[in-house]
Amino acid sequence: MKIKEPEFESYLFYDGAVELKYDPKKHVYLLVKGEKLIPQDGVTTICKIIDKSNILINWAVKVTVENLLASVHFPIEEEEFVKAVLKAKTAHRERLEDAGNVGTQAHNWIEGFIKHSITVEKPNVIEFPVSLDERVNNCCWAATKWMLSHNVRWVCTERKVYSQGYEYAGTLDGVAIVDSCDDRNCCPYEYKNRRSLIDWKTSGYIYNEYFFQTAAYQFAYEEETGDTIDDRWIIRLGKDDGAFEAWHLEGETFGEDFMTFLSCLELTRQVRSVTNRVNQRKNDLKAEKKIRVKMAKEKNNAKDGTEEHYT
Ligand SMILES: [Zn+2]
Repeated sequence: MKIKEPEFESYLFYDGAVELKYDPKKHVYLLVKGEKLIPQDGVTTICKIIDKSNILINWAVKVTVENLLASVHFPIEEEEFVKAVLKAKTAHRERLEDAGNVGTQAHNWIEGFIKHSITVEKPNVIEFPVSLDERVNNCCWAATKWMLSHNVRWVCTERKVYSQGYEYAGTLDGVAIVDSCDDRNCCPYEYKNRRSLIDWKTSGYIYNEYFFQTAAYQFAYEEETGDTIDDRWIIRLGKDDGAFEAWHLEGETFGEDFMTFLSCLELTRQVRSVTNRVNQRKNDLKAEKKIRVKMAKEKNNAKDGTEEHYT
């Protein structure tokens, strides 16, 4: 399905009737229509329209204060104190990058493990990553435990999806056939063979937008394949401590989540349309001003010329 090209990756959908080019560096999807490439909305970008600052600001303040309290020891010279305060200002950015590393390492290993599970029927030995970072090992161990206890059988992983009806694209983490586990705190009743969409999140928090994202993936996947997804699982792997949180969403939650996604899609498109209109107006005003200045200059020059001519 994947055809390598120099700049873009190419993906075919709906039995080859739809082709999308994907720029992995810019995370941009382009629909191929004859000679034209038409930009398509991406699921992750669409869901960013929802404000998360309330949670993120509190987190950033907490990280700053923690960093400051850990680095300042009284009595302290004013100059040293100012240095510590300025250093604490960027602590949240460093923490974010660090979390990214742990998350990326764990996710890469999980991806490799899933790909192996798909290609080799039953992996006999599970080789855990040898990482010096205990947090990465914790993440991978928790993920494996979840897969084994729910008898997870992977159908696909890292799959591009595209909705023809709503014209949006994205990448889902995986689709698998899942059973209930024996822990009734996790799975309150027994079930078998549910086609489930799985999304891994290496984050400190389950944001609402994850529900909308996964509903969007589910809709596009179902639209293209004709298969029905029964459940969704959003699995949070603790970025700092390898904590594990599995959110099981059953069928009845889909409708509300997908409607909210569609509202985000509509809002994203409307905001873009207004932004384009305003930018166009600003450019027009700029151009008009330039012409006015030029005309005034020419008029002045002509006047000077005339005066010169008659003096
Ligand atoms: Zn369970």
